[in-house]
Amino acid sequence: MLFKAFLIKYGEIGIKGRNRYLFEDALVRQIQFALREAEGKFTVSKEQGRIYVEAEGEYDYEETITALKRVFGIVGICPVVQIEDRGFEDLAEQVIAYIKQVYPDSQQTFKVHARRARKNFPMDSMTINSEIGARILDAFPKMRVDVHHPQINIFIEVRKKIHIYSQIISGSGGMPVGTNGKAMLLLSGGIDSPVAGWMIAKRGVQIEAVYFHAPPYTSERAKQKVIDLASLVAKYAGPIKLHIINFTDIQLYIYDQCPHEELTIIMRRYMMRIAEQIARESGALGLITGESIGQVASQTMQSLYATNEVCTMPVFRPVIGFDKLEIIDLALKINTYETSIQPFEDCCTIFVAKHPVTKPSLKVIQKSEEKLKEKMEEMVERAVSDREIVVCKYT
Ligand code: ATP
Ligand code: MG
Repeated sequence: MLFKAFLIKYGEIGIKGRNRYLFEDALVRQIQFALREAEGKFTVSKEQGRIYVEAEGEYDYEETITALKRVFGIVGICPVVQIEDRGFEDLAEQVIAYIKQVYPDSQQTFKVHARRARKNFPMDSMTINSEIGARILDAFPKMRVDVHHPQINIFIEVRKKIHIYSQIISGSGGMPVGTNGKAMLLLSGGIDSPVAGWMIAKRGVQIEAVYFHAPPYTSERAKQKVIDLASLVAKYAGPIKLHIINFTDIQLYIYDQCPHEELTIIMRRYMMRIAEQIARESGALGLITGESIGQVASQTMQSLYATNEVCTMPVFRPVIGFDKLEIIDLALKINTYETSIQPFEDCCTIFVAKHPVTKPSLKVIQKSEEKLKEKMEEMVERAVSDREIVVCKYT
């Protein structure tokens, strides 16, 4: 194996000063976490504004790249050849050997970018550029220099060791999980909410989740599906604490007391209230849903307005402007789609009225809820205190 190490590139915007060190430490932690999925032993280190992943002995290259591509905060992954400093002649030979192996046809245009981070190396960066460039031209008659639009950029960084690299594999971008607080995801068994959770986690937010379960109307398999989805999102977001709320009594009571066309909205308002209560206990500062304007009756502007009204925390709806197909594309990309489309009922589909209101009036809804209030307070308390908690990790 040519490559024993990877240079990790990360975005620099907004991470100056003290934030930078927090960002880097979180990134190192997330990389270590992700690499547990790859065969091999690795050390992750921080050195002068760079993060390196070094393999100790044999490892699986493809698995390593796949794992690193999942880590939020990584912009690029560069497989590097690290060599000892044995003087310029040796360096030139190693660069030539590198090109032979990585670009066997050796006919591209190129540019050398040297960076002398260790100042006691006897040549400055400009000299390294031109001298190495000349050696490459000698060794590969079909290669040409193009300083404006080269097909390959060859980077040479002189540090304690010398690093040679030219490939930059795109990472997922975003920010390392743990650098931007925590939010509570309302996770159903559908396609949208896992994607919504993934999108907010991508911005560095730690995720907890809440699922409303209505046994026996919703099956154990429906619950398992949500646990599976949380575990899939955990592959990117780290372990997710999933709060499973038994919603049956609350749902039956609403069903019993309220006009059926208002069921969904009232139910959703109670979900939001309960999610917010748990969020507050967990120190989360926002809620996340998979709502998208107009997708279903409960997601019209009027419905969103009525649902949102019970929340005092910000509600993040990252897929709000996406079409279903755009959400599906993301679900496929993050590998939750197959699980989401398994056909187990979630609690909404059973208690759905034939003709739900699409333009609920807040006043009317509030009035219907009035008569629930007294008994509901206690039911909500019980549902919250009896909740089951499952920590979902990717396995
Ligand atoms: P999804 O694909 O995420 O299930 P959906 O298109 O089925 O979304 P709704 O059922 O209207 O839409 O739900 C809207 C949002 O409300 C979901 O994205 C999710 O965030 C939340 N939600 C719905 N049902 C539940 C549930 N049983 N438990 C937790 N959250 C839920
Ligand atoms: Mg749903």
